[in-house]
Amino acid sequence: MTALELVTRERHEAVHLFQDRTTGVRFIVAIHSTVRGPAVGGCRMWPYANLDAALGDALRLSKGMSYKAALAGLPYGGGKSVVIGDPHTDKTRELLAVIGRAVDSLGGRYTVSDDVGIGAADVAVIAESTRFACAPLLADGRAAPATAFGTFQGIRAVAAHVFGSDALAGRSIAVQGLGAVGWQLCAYLAEAGARLYVTDLDGSLARAAAERWGAVPVATDVILEQPVDVLAPCALGGILNSGTVPRLRCRAIAGAANNQLAAAADGRALAARGIAYAPDYAINVGGLVDLVHALRPGYDVAAVLDDCRAIFDRTRMILEEAARSGEAPSVVADRLAEARLAQR
Ligand code: NAD
Repeated sequence: MTALELVTRERHEAVHLFQDRTTGVRFIVAIHSTVRGPAVGGCRMWPYANLDAALGDALRLSKGMSYKAALAGLPYGGGKSVVIGDPHTDKTRELLAVIGRAVDSLGGRYTVSDDVGIGAADVAVIAESTRFACAPLLADGRAAPATAFGTFQGIRAVAAHVFGSDALAGRSIAVQGLGAVGWQLCAYLAEAGARLYVTDLDGSLARAAAERWGAVPVATDVILEQPVDVLAPCALGGILNSGTVPRLRCRAIAGAANNQLAAAADGRALAARGIAYAPDYAINVGGLVDLVHALRPGYDVAAVLDDCRAIFDRTRMILEEAARSGEAPSVVADRLAEARLAQR
């Protein structure tokens, strides 16, 4: 499907392509929905092969933001922007200023934040050209602590649903990816007494987790097949697919990675195998919660964490509704989000 076909199918409210004649910078803003409030979402900088690939990414990511915000009951819509380029070589102050001026021209319909390739420091430069730019505040502009804390609540919720107790002491949990979120998540899990099985493409991180928390390092190609209570994907999207789902040996899945299901059918395949799945966007919303607090006056860390705690009840509700209705949890979450997006 081409990106233009995707715009039509997903009915995005607006898609803007900015081209700066002086610098050659190409910047896309996709606004999926402002029904619940102005759109918020990060800017991703990536050396996309072509404009169609960049547009496709912006469309998918902005829709994801709409669903994430709606499910969490936040009064914001979904937007996302992408800028084509290599963040290591092409990121200049002028490029960031181009982004800032473009966002500013939208008059507040979209507020830009950080994402892959655009960090909190870059958002600060963008903010010199627009007041519609904001980075999450927790831990000096990194969303990950709030995301990890929220994901931890999601893991407690699946444990409560599957095992009848949210206590994680002695539970075996496999964490795929020990980056900003995965590492911090391991800290919460270890503190709760979980037994950790960990992997990362960077083997030194798994060794460091072994030293710090007694985690068991596992090869990257077998992490999904660990016979554990909970699998926590915190690296890539698309890892739950027709090739991997039949090989899983976990009782439940709850992790931070975006777009874990390769296709909607994979959510149903998990349910058919009796594996409880906490929909990714229901439990990885902590970074967005933090951002929303940063957009308001009077930022308060305790209030951010309190809002992240609500992920526990929300996830339980989704899992219970799925058990009651016989639908997959991913289907229940989408239905709830879509119902909220349909309200004016
Ligand atoms: P990150 O880049 O800091 O960490 C990702 C880690 O995964 C890296 O250490 C990388 O080496 C590892 N990795 C990549 N491929 C792997 C593989 N095949 N096997 C094992 N390890 C692999 O990213 P992050 O900020 O920790 O985000 C992790 C995931 O959570 C991403 O999918 C991201 O989209 C999602 N997410 C993050 C946030 C946030 O606040 N950072 C919010 C919502 C969702």
